[in-house]
Amino acid sequence: AGFADLGIAGALLKALAKAGFSDPKPIQNQAIPHMLKGRDVLGIAQTGSGKTAAFALPVLSAIMSLGARRQPKTAHALVLAPTRELAVQIEEAFRLFSRGAHITTALVLGGVSRSSQTKRLRDGVDVLVATPGRLTDLVRAGDVRLSETRWLVLDEADRMLDMGFINDVRRLARATHPKRQVALFSATMPAEIEKLAMELLKDPVSVSV
Ligand code: AMP
Repeated sequence: AGFADLGIAGALLKALAKAGFSDPKPIQNQAIPHMLKGRDVLGIAQTGSGKTAAFALPVLSAIMSLGARRQPKTAHALVLAPTRELAVQIEEAFRLFSRGAHITTALVLGGVSRSSQTKRLRDGVDVLVATPGRLTDLVRAGDVRLSETRWLVLDEADRMLDMGFINDVRRLARATHPKRQVALFSATMPAEIEKLAMELLKDPVSVSV
C-alpha cells in the first residue's frame, strides 16, 4: 500500500513521489491514518524512523482540505523541536512535501534576528516550526499568537525536556486553540514526558516503532 491508500491529499502525492517517497515507513503507516481522522497521537520513534513525514503529511492534508484563511501573527500548525538544526530540517520537509501547493511556512529560532522572523509571520502562516525558547519570547512580546493554532506537534519531546524547555513547551501548548489536535513524538518516555502527554493529549493513539 502507498501514501494514497493512507488517505494523503492528492496534491501532496506528486511531491512525495518526486522526493523518492514510494512506500510509507512503519511509523507513517501507523500514525497517518489516525492523525487524518483527527486523533491525538503519542509516538515512540527515533530519529531516522520517518517520523517527520508521519506528522507533516497529515497536518498538510488537513490544512489543505480546510482551505483555512490565514490570520495575522498566527499559524494553523505549530511544530516545536529541541534544536535549530532539527527545526530547519522539519521546515524543509514541510516545504518539500507541499511544493506546488499554496502552503506557507515559517521558522522561529534562537540566534537569528527576531525582526526577520516576525516579518514573515505578519500575515500569518500555515505551518510554524520553532524552538521553544525563542517562540516563548515572541509570544510574550505579542509578535505571535497561538490562539488559532489547531495542530500542535511536539517533536523529540524527551530532548526538549533534557534541554530545559519543558515549561516553555507546556505554556506554548496551552496557548494554542482548545480544540487542537496534538501529536507528541519522543524516543524515550521519561515520567515528565508521560505527565506532559497526559495533560495535553486527549484519548491518544499510541504508536511505536
Ligand atoms: P526522519 O526520521 O523523519 O528524519 O526521516 C529519516 C529519513 O528518511 C529522511 O531522510 C527522510 O527523507 C527519509 N524518509 C522518510 N520516510 C520515507 C519514505 N516513506 N520513503 C523514503 N524515504 C523516507
